[in-house]
Amino acid sequence: MKILISEDDPIFKTILENNLKKWGYQVVSTSDGRQAWDIIRKPGCPNVVISDWMMPEMDGLQLCRKVRAHEAPRYIYFIILTAKGEQQDILQGLEAGADDFLTKPIDYVELKYRIRIGERIIGLEEKVLELARKDSLTGTLNRRAFMEKLDQELERAARKNTPLSLLMTDIDHFKQVNDRYGHLSGDRVLKQFVSQMAQVIRPYDFIGRYGGEEFILCLPDCSIKEARDIAERMRSQIETTPMQISTSRPPIHITASFGISLFSSACEKDPESLIKKADDALYSAKNDGRNCVRMAQP
Ligand code: GH3
Ligand code: MG
Ligand code: MG
Ligand code: MG
Repeated sequence: MKILISEDDPIFKTILENNLKKWGYQVVSTSDGRQAWDIIRKPGCPNVVISDWMMPEMDGLQLCRKVRAHEAPRYIYFIILTAKGEQQDILQGLEAGADDFLTKPIDYVELKYRIRIGERIIGLEEKVLELARKDSLTGTLNRRAFMEKLDQELERAARKNTPLSLLMTDIDHFKQVNDRYGHLSGDRVLKQFVSQMAQVIRPYDFIGRYGGEEFILCLPDCSIKEARDIAERMRSQIETTPMQISTSRPPIHITASFGISLFSSACEKDPESLIKKADDALYSAKNDGRNCVRMAQP
């Protein structure tokens, strides 16, 4: 865990730094609010800020208000330190958005436990965010989270002038699985379907659940030929892997169809049209008898 200290008193700052390091934290420190604000806006910024109130350039309250108005990728737990201890001051600090307040001279044992509270809150917030991004049945990204990540990958592909392939897949005749073996067995098949695909993808590829038994995969830096090979391996893996539906029944075999589209820097950076092309290719795969891979027209 990384902690940012913003404190203009050099002696007090050093004592604080030494204590935090002794407790195992990574520490970044600054001596005024403006420098702290610069660090907070950079990628990989600390999760916890311990800031003095009275500082040159920008004081702790102004810094705290800026942090709260700023859309950081993760929650920033903000502790204000000050010699001011009047209730009026504490209220002002809390109103600015501070999570906690400690008056100088600091009791370091108390500070240690208060930072732990901050860590707990940050941990809970991360868990909630993680749950909000995932499909609860299969553990893949949900559609919204997938689309967010796809936007970022398209940005990167356009900037770096690299290809990106999009793969849509849909289980063949899945309704029959539910009808024959029940919805719970269908759920088990969906989970195994995803774990089979996960065995074939590369570490930086990612999967989203697009709809019921339809999944979408983003393959960054992947040409259409490579994407076709990956899809073909998936198709074959699915076709040949028996899926367990219950302890009392023998495993079943399923197949899936695949559609692929390609983004290259010559294309418009439009996720919707890329998905539409992959979906049309998937539709062709279904029309061509299922259990096959089809590519979008360039
Ligand atoms: P096709 O080969 O044309 O794709 O046929 P299909 O039967 O797979 O397609 P259809 O769209 O007719 O049926 C999809 C089925 O997927 C119907 C729906 O009940 C089922 N389904 C969607 N989500 C879930 C889920 O979360 N769990 C289970 N068990 N079934 C689901
Ligand atoms: Mg000060
Ligand atoms: Mg289907
Ligand atoms: Mg479907």
